[in-house]
Amino acid sequence: MSILIYAESAEGKLKKVAFEIASYAKKVAETLGTTVTALTINSDNVSELAKYGVDKVLKVTNDKLAGFNAKAYADVIKQAAQQENTKLVVLSSSTDSIYLSPLVAVNLEAGYASNVIDLPVNTAPFQVKRNAFSNKAFNITEINTDIKVIGLAKNSYGIFENASTLTEEVFSPNLEDNDFDIKTESIEKSSGKVSIADADIVVSGGRGLKGPENWGLIEDLAAVLGAATACSKPVSDLGWRPHAEHVGQTGKPVATNLYIAIGISGAIQHIAGINASKVKVVINTDPEAPFFKVADYGIVGDAFDVVPRLIEKLKAFKAQNA
Ligand SMILES: Cc1cc2nc3c(=O)[nH]c(=O)nc-3n(C[C@H](O)[C@H](O)[C@H](O)COP(=O)(O)OP(=O)(O)OC[C@H]3O[C@@H](n4cnc5c(N)ncnc54)[C@H](O)[C@@H]3O)c2cc1C
Repeated sequence: MSILIYAESAEGKLKKVAFEIASYAKKVAETLGTTVTALTINSDNVSELAKYGVDKVLKVTNDKLAGFNAKAYADVIKQAAQQENTKLVVLSSSTDSIYLSPLVAVNLEAGYASNVIDLPVNTAPFQVKRNAFSNKAFNITEINTDIKVIGLAKNSYGIFENASTLTEEVFSPNLEDNDFDIKTESIEKSSGKVSIADADIVVSGGRGLKGPENWGLIEDLAAVLGAATACSKPVSDLGWRPHAEHVGQTGKPVATNLYIAIGISGAIQHIAGINASKVKVVINTDPEAPFFKVADYGIVGDAFDVVPRLIEKLKAFKAQNA
């Protein structure tokens, strides 16, 4: 009974989260004395998974699965789990996998724990540590079903090389018409060069930026750092920035290595969505802004003064270290 992971890809290319859940599953597999099987759907090159401990890939290539479809993908994962007689399925906490995981759990009559942030505390009984209350606390959850599904919180474990010998197998699931009861009609991609989901660094702007005409500051800082751009809810509500950039409790969750908040007050609903980021930097004129309470580094200052100087310094640093 191999551990099954669903290794996600975008436009045929494996995503970073695939390597993180592979690294995680390998470590758990070592504890359980088993192997790791990865399911891929329309991924072009899966060999890289060997670097992170995957022993076998079940490779699905099917035009019907070209776009993400939670019901159909969950059915495919179920069939793969049944073929492999899997007792543990590991998914990421990406936007797609958050939809998928509960469906997979229902399909397999499995217990499901989301937002897992560490290796199992125990394997018998099976207990995992999870984020709770918008990352302000954690809990230990015990899953007692025969099959278990867990969703690993993004950026919580890390990516570790642990090479294995990979075998690749073509996997042809049976797709039913009712797998496609719900279809995605269109996808609107955010225009940023780096997507928030994949970014190591996110530069985010709030109402303190005064208007959309000043977003060059955010974009220039993001460009020099190779970061994605994001914004607070009012900024997207006002139409200053596209909704795809809205982060927070009701927007996209961010669990990045570095989150830079500029002119954002740090309301609880904003913090709830970005709190899992490793290092948080805030630039705000108001020393009493709530964001400073959760920030690792804070600059009390005017964004229109601080950010251009920061960009200048970063450019000079990059030039010196090129
Ligand atoms: C149900 C619900 C869900 C919500 N979900 C979200 C969510 O997902 N995400 C989200 O972001 N919000 C969310 N909100 C809104 C949230 O409560 C706040 O209103 C919002 O986050 C505030 O946005 P802001 O910090 O950009 O603006 P403001 O609160 O107006 O703060 C602007 C900040 O900029 C600073 N500033 C002003 N001028 C400058 C300058 N020149 N340089 C530097 N700093 C400056 C100010 O000191 C201030 O701290 C939600 C609210 C509700 C009720």
